[in-house]
Amino acid sequence: MTRITRRSFTLMAGAATGAALAMPNLAFGATARIAVVGGGFGGATAARYLKRLDNRLSVTLIEPNAKFVTCPYSNLVLGGLKTMDDISHGYDGLAKAGVRVIRASVQGIDPSAKRLSLSSGNAVQYDKLVLSPGIDMNFGALPGYDAATAEKLPHAWKAGPQTLLLKRQLEAMPDGGTFIMVAPDNPYRCPPGPYERASMIAHYLKTRKPKSKILILDAKESFSKQGLFQEGWAAVYGKMIEWLPGKAGGKVTEVDAKGMSVKTEFGNQKGAVINVIPPQRAGEIARAAGFAEANGWCAVDFNTFQSKADANVYIVGDATIAGQMPKSGFSANSQAKVAAIAIIEGLNGRTPASPAFANTCYSLVAPKYGISVANVYRVTAQGLVATEGGVSPTAQPPAFRSQEATFADGWYESITQEMFGQA
Ligand SMILES: Cc1cc2nc3c(=O)[nH]c(=O)nc-3n(C[C@H](O)[C@H](O)[C@H](O)COP(=O)(O)OP(=O)(O)OC[C@H]3O[C@@H](n4cnc5c(N)ncnc54)[C@H](O)[C@@H]3O)c2cc1C
Repeated sequence: MTRITRRSFTLMAGAATGAALAMPNLAFGATARIAVVGGGFGGATAARYLKRLDNRLSVTLIEPNAKFVTCPYSNLVLGGLKTMDDISHGYDGLAKAGVRVIRASVQGIDPSAKRLSLSSGNAVQYDKLVLSPGIDMNFGALPGYDAATAEKLPHAWKAGPQTLLLKRQLEAMPDGGTFIMVAPDNPYRCPPGPYERASMIAHYLKTRKPKSKILILDAKESFSKQGLFQEGWAAVYGKMIEWLPGKAGGKVTEVDAKGMSVKTEFGNQKGAVINVIPPQRAGEIARAAGFAEANGWCAVDFNTFQSKADANVYIVGDATIAGQMPKSGFSANSQAKVAAIAIIEGLNGRTPASPAFANTCYSLVAPKYGISVANVYRVTAQGLVATEGGVSPTAQPPAFRSQEATFADGWYESITQEMFGQA
């Protein structure tokens, strides 16, 4: 894999977006109706770009929540660095950009009639559909963990009330208690997310409850940005965070909510607070409509993100299996732009050019201590693979890590502004 500098990466990622913006004003007769399901990273981006690329399109976004609470930076809420308000975004900007925003959830998709039925009782007709419903927890895949248990042992893997529940539990935890995190096997939403969470919780505990411990019980043998995280944990938190890989007793086989413990192949572990991040699958609506494979995820054509199950449907974001691209907000945003271009090109009878995708994931180990992974992905004979990029270097001075934390803030600000801003 070619290593790229941050500057060359930024130019490439910018070029991908620039190509979309530089497209000529497209001319086709009838105004196509595009429905977008889900107002998160994939859906909000797709709606915004479809309208931006050709504002004669009739673009309808359907989302049940008045505000989207981002998972990115929700770990910082747990660490006390951000508030829920800081990570909540309304849809006025999209409405101002000409997107028709309907507050409802889609309860059914009739692919042959190209019709959505909504929780409001209304229906929406479409010519093309973009689906970005994100993930659902695969309750039942981990014995003892279901939707009711999640009210006692939160996953907080969808930001919102679950984030607040976990935060309140941390606040109530006695000094000297053990915080257990159960981390899932791949694939799952945000590969570095559990380890950023452990870092932010360590920051909170170090400053408020320094006798406490964090135990990560992991189904995997290794994890994203592992060297960078472990270097940071040792430097900032000493021995506060212990990570157990699957083969060393990390694989959790059962959850006992009543006993506040989890069972591993090496015995039981008791926690004062237990954060279970369970196995996941594509959001319910994508599965119910028949767009998911037996593995629970949706297959797409990587050149367009068109569903392999229905040529009128484009699926982006976490609900898909996108080759080597991780399930991240940045990936969803990049895929949504490619899908928007593919839809417009398709409506005009043209084949879109082969795309390049970008993803950068920043994580905070501590305030002013950032780490990152950045890659460009292309469609090759091997599928959708990372062709350039890698993780940021270890053994750097504090100024370097502080700069990465500043880049993280810049990333969050720019991507949320791009999706939800008034521009
Ligand atoms: C703790 C944590 C930290 C993270 N940090 C980062 C990070 O730093 N950077 C990064 O790039 N990514 C990060 N992620 C990953 C990122 O949140 C997801 O990859 C991203 O949200 C995926 O976008 P999406 O559009 O697929 O799903 P979402 O953003 O979850 O959007 C799905 C939307 O669909 C709506 N929906 C679902 N079903 C229906 C229906 N039937 N009808 C209508 N609407 C529906 C939902 O209400 C939701 O608004 C993090 C994730 C977690 C858990």
